[in-house]
Amino acid sequence: MSLIEVKGLKKSYGDVHAVRGVDLEIAQGEIFSLLGPNGAGKTTTVEILEGFRTRDSGTVSVLGFDPQTRGHESREWRNRIGIVLQSSADAGDLTVIETIDHFSGYYSNPRNVDEVIHSVGLVEKENALIRNLSGGQRRRLDVALGIIGNPELLFLDEPTTGFDPEARRSFWALIQSLRSSGTTILLTTHYLDEAEALADRVAVINNGVIIEVSTPTELGGRSTSQATVSWRDGQISKSEKSDNPTELVATLSSHFGGEVPELVVSRPSLEDIYLEMIGGTHESDS
Ligand code: ATP
Repeated sequence: MSLIEVKGLKKSYGDVHAVRGVDLEIAQGEIFSLLGPNGAGKTTTVEILEGFRTRDSGTVSVLGFDPQTRGHESREWRNRIGIVLQSSADAGDLTVIETIDHFSGYYSNPRNVDEVIHSVGLVEKENALIRNLSGGQRRRLDVALGIIGNPELLFLDEPTTGFDPEARRSFWALIQSLRSSGTTILLTTHYLDEAEALADRVAVINNGVIIEVSTPTELGGRSTSQATVSWRDGQISKSEKSDNPTELVATLSSHFGGEVPELVVSRPSLEDIYLEMIGGTHESDS
């Protein structure tokens, strides 16, 4: 069952054609990541799905409703959605716990406030004023506010910007646990390792057009691309591309009589593939 269905979505700002015919289907329980360079049309697309921007043409269904014309069911619809925007409104004079508690009151079936504070790693800061939080802590609060309503569908727009590596890992664990509990997630990120760790499928968007939708491991033919085998031979570092790295490693192993010095076998990272896909075309031609 698709929770999100988008067909032929278009949106222009004056003569800037930000989104130029996007089709998307996101299934229930899936983590779907939208990847693309600055200005590609990600935020425009996501904010149309969230009901914050209007579209010029195309059809959009989110949880069975058109976000633009949802009318009287708006409150019920909002109740089922969690949103973490790129930047959030300021509530500087409240503490962390007061803020989360306050937001929980907007929802009919909120999560437990203490559990949410724990899951985003803000226990030690729960009585701190928002204005005294660091950037990364502030972002964790944004995430807490996105999940406090126990949403069926969660929009995460660059959620880990400003997180330190440890906080990012614990955030990933949180997202994985939300997925296990059935939450559908649309994630926008510039971190390719984040998309790789979390996403079931990724869509690469550039200049308002989706270039490819695939799993992170198969994007751009990644799973069938050549492996690079590198090793050290005396003073010289060597490397070779191969369709059959196992055979090459076996040959090297018999050449060296066992252990191959500094052996590394690698395939292109998601980032390599992504950069190749958008390479040279990231300037808007609209
Ligand atoms: P980023 O990764 O930088 O967040 P994005 O992929 O989210 O980028 P959008 O914010 O959707 O990109 O912007 C797509 C294009 O539309 C850009 O050229 C941008 O300048 C333009 N644009 C976005 N919002 C507006 C607006 N409110 N008015 C005019 N132009 C806009």
